[in-house]
Amino acid sequence: MAGRILTGDRPTGNLHLGHLVGSLLSRAQLQHKYDTFILIADVQALTTHFEHPEKIEKNMYNVTLDNLSVGIDPEVSTFFIQSMVPAIAELTIFYSMLVSVNTLRHNPTIKTEAANYGYDDLTYGFLGYPVSQSADITFCNANLVPVGEDQVPHMELTRKLVRRFNDVYNTDVLAEPETMLSDCPRLAGLDGNAKMGKSLNNAIFLCDPEETVKTKVFSAITDPQRISTKDKGHPEICSIYHYHQTFNKQESSKICESCKNAQIGCVDCKNTLFEKLNETLKPIREKRRYYEEHPDTVKEILLAGTKKANKIGNETVAKVKEAMHVKYF
Ligand code: SF4
Repeated sequence: MAGRILTGDRPTGNLHLGHLVGSLLSRAQLQHKYDTFILIADVQALTTHFEHPEKIEKNMYNVTLDNLSVGIDPEVSTFFIQSMVPAIAELTIFYSMLVSVNTLRHNPTIKTEAANYGYDDLTYGFLGYPVSQSADITFCNANLVPVGEDQVPHMELTRKLVRRFNDVYNTDVLAEPETMLSDCPRLAGLDGNAKMGKSLNNAIFLCDPEETVKTKVFSAITDPQRISTKDKGHPEICSIYHYHQTFNKQESSKICESCKNAQIGCVDCKNTLFEKLNETLKPIREKRRYYEEHPDTVKEILLAGTKKANKIGNETVAKVKEAMHVKYF
């Protein structure tokens, strides 16, 4: 193996096509090259959903199924539950001594997310979640973290924190992780919103049945100026065309030209896309069905991975405590 990767998901809802093209497909490939740790980030989910923990409980299972269904192999990758690895919480406390409140306040991702959630009075947990992420990464000595653009400031914080820790305590206990920036395109929502989101009501979920996908595709926003098939279209502003570019690459140029020259109708165009999406989703649904029928297997995967994570985490905490002189007896 070329190193260890830390990746994962917040269990705040089912994963969708945006996750599939943005992270899950590359995750499924990377697992054969890197020792892959997959975090089910329930504590991080609590920073925004602490008043509705029942949603997190339900989605822990769903998010695990989503990962398994796209081909994350539990024999190869390690799934673990954040709240069941106490080392992460312990490291978060120790690391919090080394990060200033101003650094967290000025973190651009925190500012954007706080504005999106409408927070004008940040909780300690929300403001500090990048520190907890540093613990997620370092407890298992991950040296590579695949992230989207919005997570880059958090990675920089982790790298700085590691350097500061090693410098202050004159040690090399913590390894500085590298950022693996995703080059996958962000998938737009069915409503034309630049982002497909779990809670934006504009997503096709990996667990959606065929009929639901069809309904969603046929209700997607297209070119509003194209009233009839005789009107020349503007595919560049159409969400359906955007999806053709991702899920129907071979035909997308032809569709673009046909739309511009009024040689294809939106119904046919949507039908073609629906068929392509089904080709992608069919094997995912089949794998998912297997795990849905074997819930004990899913539980065993999570427990076995969490046990392995705890063993590594306890070793890291012991070294960190020793470096910080908080190991007394
Ligand atoms: S033909 Fe296709 S690309 Fe053109 S506007 Fe209709 S749905 Fe969009």
